[in-house]
Amino acid sequence: MTHTQTVDILRDQIIFNEGDQGDCAYIIEKGRVLVYMTKDGEDIPISVLGEGEIFGEMSLIDNQVRSGTVKALEDVRLTIVTREQLLERISKADTVVQLLMRVLLKRLRRNNFTLGTLKLSDLIIENKSTKEDDQDSAALQHIKLENEIFLAFQNKEFSLHYQPIVNLQDQKIQGCEALLRWNSPSLGYVSPNIFIDIIENSSMVIPIGHWIISQALKDLKSILEHLKAGGHEAASEKFMMSINISGRQFTHDDFLGNLEDIREKHDVPIKNIKLEMTERIMLDGSVALDCLNRCHREGYAISIDDFGTGFSSLQYLTQMPISYLKVDRSFVSKVRQDNKSKAVVSSIIYLAKAMNIEVIAEGIENAEDAHVLFGLGAHYGQGYFFAKPLAFDEFMKALKV
Ligand code: C2E
Ligand code: CA
Ligand code: CA
Repeated sequence: MTHTQTVDILRDQIIFNEGDQGDCAYIIEKGRVLVYMTKDGEDIPISVLGEGEIFGEMSLIDNQVRSGTVKALEDVRLTIVTREQLLERISKADTVVQLLMRVLLKRLRRNNFTLGTLKLSDLIIENKSTKEDDQDSAALQHIKLENEIFLAFQNKEFSLHYQPIVNLQDQKIQGCEALLRWNSPSLGYVSPNIFIDIIENSSMVIPIGHWIISQALKDLKSILEHLKAGGHEAASEKFMMSINISGRQFTHDDFLGNLEDIREKHDVPIKNIKLEMTERIMLDGSVALDCLNRCHREGYAISIDDFGTGFSSLQYLTQMPISYLKVDRSFVSKVRQDNKSKAVVSSIIYLAKAMNIEVIAEGIENAEDAHVLFGLGAHYGQGYFFAKPLAFDEFMKALKV
């Protein structure tokens, strides 16, 4: 908590001078101030500001000297806004918003400084010499990539692959996880690590998320029918399709209503569907918890992904209606070499059992790890040792029924 600090300034007193280093901004509580610039010995008024207005913020944002002088027109009272208070808020803004702020400030300063005295040639030189910092170009790259991703989605360059999840006891496929793939004609195969965050942090997560659920449930329908047709009624009853759901998608609008519409359209039972999400969704607090509870009551299984890597994991365990826990690959891959990782895994399994939660170990890459994890009590396993994520047709072949 920061304490607000106020100062009283007498009429005609200067609050700061053009060219000073800025260390704080001010909010006017009472009175009016004049902002002016001095050119060739002449004072040029820029604006008069009054109650509730802020000034002095520019040099905090762009780290330049004060662009004008501010004088009290009458007795004024000001609240001081510290650099930290302002920058802390700005740093939380979207990088593109930060970029726009810097661009606007730069233009404003240029207009103020020059006040019509600049020649076109000066502007060209100035433009050439501006060293657009990496931050700005990264923010613009981000927008471009966002557009490319959405275009790719519209051009149907996305598909879903399915990675088998096996029962560790008999290593038979018990379900799968739907994983998004982007095969770009120009870039080739693009890793989800590059595009998932961009999708999840933009509004396109809604149409793309909707498509992922539709495609996964359409394929689930074919899987269940295939199992039944092969006489594997029990396998079909137990088969679980895991779909990754991001926080923004989950708390947007009527997530459950939309999910139910898609499910009814594809005519698949709720009991075969698992919603996989990380603890991060709990950052949305009661909205997320409320939605989780409604999904759970409706009959959807909830699985917590990347378990152990988040924060306050244990607290969330007691609040969320969880049926499955996925132990993160970072622990699984070290289970034999590192006693601490092994201790974490066995504690998670112990806790989960006590809470009636089933455990999936993800990222199993060899038979030895599969064996150790089964010994520790994990129910299910997923990883390259069993199978990589497969295109739908390959997955159907891997079902071997
Ligand atoms: P995740 O949900 O933790 O998915 C598991 C990731 O581990 C997948 O990476 C999978 O290919 C990889 N993996 C599986 N077994 C092994 C193994 O034995 N060794 C190693 N080294 N890796 C293994 P992928 O497909 O690249 O996906 C990365 C992340 O992107 C996912 O992590 C998930 O967070 C996100 N993601 C993928 N598809 C979707 C989606 O449809 N929706 C959402 N919201 N996120 C998705
Ligand atoms: Ca996952
Ligand atoms: Ca995971």
